[in-house]
Amino acid sequence: MEYKSENRICQNCQQDFTIESEDFNFYEKMKVPPPTFCPECRFQRRATWRNERTLYKRNCDLCNKKFISMHDKDARFPVYCKECWDGDNWNRDKFEKDYDFAKPFFEQFDELHQKVPRIGIWQRSTINCPYSNMCGESKNVYLSISVVAGSENVFYSRIVDKSSDIFDCYSIKECENCYENIESEKNYNCQNLFLSRSCLDSFFLVDCVNCSNCILSYNLRNKQFYIKNQQYSKEEYFKELEKLNLGDKEYRQKAIEEFENICKKAIYRYANIYKSIDSSGNNILNSRNIKKCFDVYNSENCKYVYRGVSFKDGMDITFGGWSELFYEYTTGSMNGYNVKFSYSAVDQARNVEYADSCSCCSNVFGCISLKNKNYSILNKQYTKEEYKKMIEKIKKQMNEIPYMDKRGRVYKYGEFFPAELSCFAYNETMAQDFFPLTKEQALKEGYKWKEKEKKNFEITLKATEIPKNIKDVDDKILEEVLGCVHEGKCDHRCYTAFRLTQDEFNFYKKNNIPIPNECANCRYSRLFAKILPPKLWHRKCMKEGCENEFETSYAPDRPEIVYCEKCYQQEVY
Ligand SMILES: [Zn+2]
Ligand SMILES: [Zn+2]
Ligand SMILES: [Zn+2]
Ligand SMILES: [Zn+2]
Repeated sequence: MEYKSENRICQNCQQDFTIESEDFNFYEKMKVPPPTFCPECRFQRRATWRNERTLYKRNCDLCNKKFISMHDKDARFPVYCKECWDGDNWNRDKFEKDYDFAKPFFEQFDELHQKVPRIGIWQRSTINCPYSNMCGESKNVYLSISVVAGSENVFYSRIVDKSSDIFDCYSIKECENCYENIESEKNYNCQNLFLSRSCLDSFFLVDCVNCSNCILSYNLRNKQFYIKNQQYSKEEYFKELEKLNLGDKEYRQKAIEEFENICKKAIYRYANIYKSIDSSGNNILNSRNIKKCFDVYNSENCKYVYRGVSFKDGMDITFGGWSELFYEYTTGSMNGYNVKFSYSAVDQARNVEYADSCSCCSNVFGCISLKNKNYSILNKQYTKEEYKKMIEKIKKQMNEIPYMDKRGRVYKYGEFFPAELSCFAYNETMAQDFFPLTKEQALKEGYKWKEKEKKNFEITLKATEIPKNIKDVDDKILEEVLGCVHEGKCDHRCYTAFRLTQDEFNFYKKNNIPIPNECANCRYSRLFAKILPPKLWHRKCMKEGCENEFETSYAPDRPEIVYCEKCYQQEVY
């Protein structure tokens, strides 16, 4: 059927938003009504359900072992460690509820939500990653998020695929031995590379491709021994590298400042989209018909997807992959088909709606923490015939007796879970990273807020006492509790103190990197500040005389020089 695009008013922010004609086709295919929240408010709502990096030490409620968990001790439901969660020492079915047609669905879901055990840390097929949430198919990952696809030895990073020996990186693929690489792929032995690909033994590059032994340069292609975009001889190059003295904190800081100037000189392509057709957004690779998507690759026919891999026909997805027909979904998926309004419905989910933390389930509705189940509603098992009838009735009932949240937003069938039903406070979740609020704002908006626990670490080495040069450090520093230079005064969820791990120490030594004086969260916030937001602005090419327009994640008030595809190709290649 041919639909016309329509303007609606968002229930949440009261702003106008457009539902485009192809969106209606997708809603029809998914058998869902059009949304009542705008795309950005939908993204924010899903984000309130996803706690990536607010971690707590607590006991497992089954085996009593201490472990790292995204749910604090005061969670209303039992929280299990990975081993207990995967094991069969508990009964997943005993929480079943009869559906009450006199009560709103979300109210009944919430009652179940307060009782059913949940996994403390989200991991799938990982080895030795006790401190990492939201990671899969990877080994030896430490305080990192969304590290997948066979990655190994990844520390303090986010969105890392098929990479090894990675420290402080963000949105990278197939990299090895890299430090502070951002939105880059296939780099080896590189430090502080930004929007660069297939580079080797290089430092402080922006938008460089296929370069080796290059330093502090921009827009280079196929170059070797370049410093500040000038050719050097091999001998001179290594002399200059020596002079840069990057193992020393003060010298490195000078290079970082110089790099900031170089980043202002570079010419930026309107979007980091490669090998893709009919696509808009940023950080897209090998995809077709991907609209307003960010950090997506090997996908087709998707819209409003943030961090998706190998998705087909998906809309409104935040973190997931290897699946088809997904709508309003967040956090991890594998071989899923036809999944809607769910958080973490992993491993062969089929025809799933309103699920939380279910695996290998088909035809389930409003279920939590189930495994290998079919035809269940609120964790109660039905026959196939009963299930089909019940689902039809419930969807109607959800429209007749909708849930209303504290601020009067109405949730009928077709809405993702209300933010107020999330297990997390707003400031524990990804929402706080992308839509930061003060405590007062958050409470006013009806979100929960969690006060930071005051921890008194006994700092044995103050930030100012950390040796400036990596040469002057030996592994005795592993026994020290280091002070973060921000002392908790920043808004980065500063840990105030931190320890180095042996792997980390070895990496800094091997790569001539000074010991950091910021804790993991403060370092993370510094990387995060460099990332373009998952948003688009309509802009004109900045090349004089060019009239081309495009959708870009570079906001109009940003300092970068942003060109259209044609002008970029002319200038840079
Ligand atoms: Zn809105
Ligand atoms: Zn346990
Ligand atoms: Zn800190
Ligand atoms: Zn142009």
